[in-house]
Amino acid sequence: MKKYFLILIPLFYLSSCSDSDNTDDSTTEDDEETTVDISSVVESSFYTDNDVTVNVDGETITITSTGLPDHKTPYWDIENMEHELYEPFPSYIIDDTDAYDDDYDELSRLMSSDDDGNTIITYENNMNTEMIVFDYSMEIPTYPEEAENKEETDLGLIGLALNGVPIYNNYEGATVLGVVAMSTFDSAGAHPGPNSDYHYHTAAQLGIYADDDGSSYPTVNDSNLIGFLRDGYPIYGRQEEDGTYPDDLDENGGHTDVTADFPDGIYHYHCSNTNYLNTGWYVIKEGAYHGTPGPYTGG
Ligand SMILES: [Zn+2]
Ligand SMILES: [Zn+2]
Repeated sequence: MKKYFLILIPLFYLSSCSDSDNTDDSTTEDDEETTVDISSVVESSFYTDNDVTVNVDGETITITSTGLPDHKTPYWDIENMEHELYEPFPSYIIDDTDAYDDDYDELSRLMSSDDDGNTIITYENNMNTEMIVFDYSMEIPTYPEEAENKEETDLGLIGLALNGVPIYNNYEGATVLGVVAMSTFDSAGAHPGPNSDYHYHTAAQLGIYADDDGSSYPTVNDSNLIGFLRDGYPIYGRQEEDGTYPDDLDENGGHTDVTADFPDGIYHYHCSNTNYLNTGWYVIKEGAYHGTPGPYTGG
């Protein structure tokens, strides 16, 4: 009997180690070590003063929001420009017109020259001119878990920023984001879709498109928590807590490491660190979910 156990114990140990990498349910002890309860961070992070609600019920957290931002955007009042949170579309110097080659003809109407001969582009709305109140409700797991088969993000809401505005991926309708679609962004990297649904695709390094005036845009060139995706995993700006840029992100833009909110470590996404099409914008999230996305309504 003694020899029998001496052989079996190491085998079981090896087996449970490899299983834990795949988050197999049979290794309950390992799962308890690596699974993080996100409820207290979710409850304390979302902006209740922007009408976001968080309800923790056992293994499910439900977050509701109107989808309207708490910051400035021209979309508050395109027509009359009178809303207290109205601000003009971003306008800036293009330092690399090569990025606009294919779409130059369509964007040329947005371009002008300044006194020094620089090319200036000023964004403007397309036919989608308003943003309306939605009744968003997103369910995420209290204990996010890695999915065995990673599901691609789809059109529509893939997560909620802390102010309750939906996060979209790098697609605009059926096509990947291009500079023409991006020319309808406000300074927050957002715009409303055909359903008047305001949403973030990207965020810029403040200072390129907007002064850091205390607006709560979901900035990317920092280590701030931006929001949570539908699989329950948090998404951060481009930096780690110590100001460095992560160099070990997986194909879905995330990794397991400590964050300011989760000092014991958690899987989390970061915004892309690629200057998208040389536009100065950084895509918030592309690719697949790390975990299993929960359902949402209202979009
Ligand atoms: Zn869009
Ligand atoms: Zn990180």
